[in-house]
Amino acid sequence: MSINKDEGIKRAAELLKQGATMLDMSCPMDGLPLFRLRSGEIVCPIHGRVYVIENESQMKQIQTQSTLERAEEVVVKSIGVMTDKLKEDPSDSDAAVQLIRLLDVLERIRKLRGATQQEK
Ligand SMILES: [Zn+2]
Repeated sequence: MSINKDEGIKRAAELLKQGATMLDMSCPMDGLPLFRLRSGEIVCPIHGRVYVIENESQMKQIQTQSTLERAEEVVVKSIGVMTDKLKEDPSDSDAAVQLIRLLDVLERIRKLRGATQQEK
């Protein structure tokens, strides 16, 4: 670890000032206590957001989230490709249809991500 514990303690104090709660759990990477932010997110003062896996259903939820995150990345990239195609040839109706489909998929992914995040 290149970041020292003093820095971690300083950041922990800042988190407390912001209204975060210190948890009875520690970061597996540096042993510092973890904090729950007002938003419900669990963070390590050094590593930032961490995933604390308490049970199997939480594990599945995290896997779902990361899969959706990857799906979103792929879709956004494809949207870029289709947009470029349309820029080159605005009459390319195949690209237009694809673009609409991709935007639809993106919307669905974002909805799903929002829904799974709220389950926390
Ligand atoms: Zn940590």
